[in-house]
Amino acid sequence: MIARLDELYGREEEILAPFAVHNQDSGGRRFPEKSHPFRTDFQRDRDRILHSRAFRRLEYKTQVFLNGTGDHYRTRLTHTIEVAAVARTIARSLCLNEDLTEAIALAHDLGHTPFGHSGERALQKLMAEDGGFDHNEQALRIVDLLEIKYPSYDGLNLTWAVRAGLMKHRVRKDGSRTRLDGRELPLFPCAESQVADVADDLTYYGHDVDDGLDSGLITLEMLETVKLWRMCEEKTFEMGLTEKNERFAACTVRNLIDAMVGDLIRYSASTLEKCRPSCASDVENASARMISFSPEYQTLTDELRDFLYHNLYFHPVLASLNDLSYKQMGTCFRAFLAHPELMGEGARSRIAGEGLKRAAADFVAGMTDNFATKEYNCVSFLYPEHGKEIKVN
Ligand code: MG
Repeated sequence: MIARLDELYGREEEILAPFAVHNQDSGGRRFPEKSHPFRTDFQRDRDRILHSRAFRRLEYKTQVFLNGTGDHYRTRLTHTIEVAAVARTIARSLCLNEDLTEAIALAHDLGHTPFGHSGERALQKLMAEDGGFDHNEQALRIVDLLEIKYPSYDGLNLTWAVRAGLMKHRVRKDGSRTRLDGRELPLFPCAESQVADVADDLTYYGHDVDDGLDSGLITLEMLETVKLWRMCEEKTFEMGLTEKNERFAACTVRNLIDAMVGDLIRYSASTLEKCRPSCASDVENASARMISFSPEYQTLTDELRDFLYHNLYFHPVLASLNDLSYKQMGTCFRAFLAHPELMGEGARSRIAGEGLKRAAADFVAGMTDNFATKEYNCVSFLYPEHGKEIKVN
């Protein structure tokens, strides 16, 4: 027996909440396509993201610890897979569209540069006078433009719902509202996008604690200053563990993720119950986000995030990554401006339409850590004059 497409759509009516985004409300594609015989639109979107080159590059991009410096540290790829798993759990519990949630989660970090947030800051500085750089906007450029898979258009031709879901910031710095294809977006993203967004946060809180402990840059003693960690340690003690060792730490990280996911599901369910949105657009036009931690957990997770910023992300060992990315990305960027022939075919083909700087920014942003280092070694040997340091505040 093969499930027909109309049966798959029929199942959505049975299992999804009225405020979930149904496939039939996907908003369509920029270039109309025939339906697939076996897969819904959001299944196809998810698969297109999974099969993209940008997705495969995530394997060699830094999450927090420089890619390749430890076999157990998260990479941008394993982070993304963990976010998608957490997001699917939350979406299923809240009767939201799991395929849409997964598609947004899998694509949420496609626009990240090499060398993590340090790399993004370097590219922001290099592009400051030329339209700037933002990894969320870059994710949209990748799925709309930079992936080359189809005979008559660029990009992956994803549905409107997935593309809009990737635009999580809806108000620009100048106060104007974000637009997509000229259309002003509602104040909040759909519930599925909100789920992917919070799943991203809570997933990195959990795995950065894990990787931080693994690296020795943070310790169990240091974490005892964090209330949410102490609460999760209590649960670990209740499980019968008494000695604070590797097993204890791993169990407490598990308890931490479970506690955050549990609170998020319960509190969001109570908000949705109270507000009773009757369709997806009620969620998008509400007065506040409907997918959130409880106020108690918001405070607890804020404290954990602040701990990570103070003790891990700004640790001198990780700060050295800033210098590395500024140096390598800056050198490559300047060399590509002077010698565009060094860039790949795709980037060169966009110079005429979008300008040399945007084409170079796309090329540098798309690099993996390994590739950026190789390119840096190559261009700094051939053209040492581009290696001058850029001043970053
Ligand atoms: Mg992320």
